[in-house]
Amino acid sequence: MSEADEPGALGEFAAGVAAGLDPQPQAGASRTGPAVTNIGSRWNHTTCSVCGQTFRREDAVRITEQDGIAAPAVTHRDPALRCDPDVGAPPAEQSGDDVADFAAGLAAAWRPLDGAPISRLSPRDWRIPRPGGRPGSDRRRRCLYCGHTFRAEEHVVVCPCSPHEPKCGAAVHRDPGAGLVCWEKWRPDGELAICPITLTRLDPR
Ligand SMILES: [Zn+2]
Ligand SMILES: [Zn+2]
Ligand SMILES: [Zn+2]
Repeated sequence: MSEADEPGALGEFAAGVAAGLDPQPQAGASRTGPAVTNIGSRWNHTTCSVCGQTFRREDAVRITEQDGIAAPAVTHRDPALRCDPDVGAPPAEQSGDDVADFAAGLAAAWRPLDGAPISRLSPRDWRIPRPGGRPGSDRRRRCLYCGHTFRAEEHVVVCPCSPHEPKCGAAVHRDPGAGLVCWEKWRPDGELAICPITLTRLDPR
């Protein structure tokens, strides 16, 4: 093998390993069925047409092939997002409460070093997409760091220019329980000198 071949071969090897670790539906075979979103999933980071939420890594999804349409439909399987009629609504005794409580406890115990205020998004928060809706080009409806939409009960740091609406309202995830520490990655020193939306200079805290 010449050296020129190696990157391609290595790439194929890596793809094979990735496919082995997380099997994805193959072209040719029936693509309808459940799958888990990974970094190589074609739908990763796109927006779900049912709930308006982006697809994230680790999201369980259902793939539905449609006659005459090249790209099969992809929907979430998380009952909390109410996308998939076959999964149904979350049970009245929500097992998700335990997860939410755990996330809240973790967020309370592990405060940001810089003391940035953390908000928990209520299900009615204006930043959360509505079913069938799309976040569009409004940057405030997506995390400024990871670009994903916000989900109910997630913990975020709201831009310090607007602790009260409607000044800017942009937010960044800060939810270690959900594996989203976007705030720390975005501002490792906890400093935010200029509001990224209004471009006004912020008072040092
Ligand atoms: Zn969805
Ligand atoms: Zn984020
Ligand atoms: Zn702001």
